[in-house]
Amino acid sequence: MASGVDIPENGAVYGGVAQCVRHPNVSPLTYTGTNTWVLAAPGDGACIVVDPGPDDGEAPGRIAQVLARRGLSVAAVALTHGHPDHGGCAAVSGRLFGAPVLGGTGAPLAAGPLTLPGVSLAVEVVPLPGHSSDSVGFLVEEGGLVVTGDVIFAQSPTMVCWPDGRLDDYLASLDVLDALVAERGVERLLTAHGPVIENPAVRVGQARRHRMSRLRQVVTAVRSGIPADAETLVEAIYNDVRPDLHDGALRSVNAQLRYAYDHGLLQEH
Ligand SMILES: [Zn+2]
Repeated sequence: MASGVDIPENGAVYGGVAQCVRHPNVSPLTYTGTNTWVLAAPGDGACIVVDPGPDDGEAPGRIAQVLARRGLSVAAVALTHGHPDHGGCAAVSGRLFGAPVLGGTGAPLAAGPLTLPGVSLAVEVVPLPGHSSDSVGFLVEEGGLVVTGDVIFAQSPTMVCWPDGRLDDYLASLDVLDALVAERGVERLLTAHGPVIENPAVRVGQARRHRMSRLRQVVTAVRSGIPADAETLVEAIYNDVRPDLHDGALRSVNAQLRYAYDHGLLQEH
């Protein structure tokens, strides 16, 4: 983890508009647990609940406690993507809060403004595929922030979940994040696991360089005669990856091979 950054505590508010509810589903893939983000303009009575969390029987109740303290109703439950640590309790949450569930169907949410009854906060859906094909972010210009799901993390690289996730999509999504920082006043990224990213331009640059250096490693290894097989390549070049992240490394290498073939860096046999 980068030094000097904190895991958001339950109830921490960012940009005056986004409040964290953190779930205790700690694991190598989910890090310190899933961060749910409650989006509401100051003074509004209705909110959007982004990524209500895992199906652990208690996630909706954790969110309800925060909502009750603020007297907030829920206009929609919205998902950054369909993975179960984000939307496992989406249907139950939607029923409990009497709200529609947006996203999580396998197709990305439509890009553009989210218009919901009782919500004055301007929230815009931004497609950010790559981790998964359906990944989106939620841009809130008023708070200078984007809720980014699993597109990028402060503490580690994310996984490109090949074959659903693709490296060319992922790199394009990093460009989109750069543009939001440069053109839309974004100052922080609220991720779904771990600390808030307070230096988005720096972190996006690091994420891009990390991907490209891994890609170069794979291309160099195959050009030097190592078989273009994910299992062999993970053994050869991902020797610093913990055993419980081996599956993620396999997916990433497959994504890199696909990218290398598509972009003429390697010949497919
Ligand atoms: Zn995910």
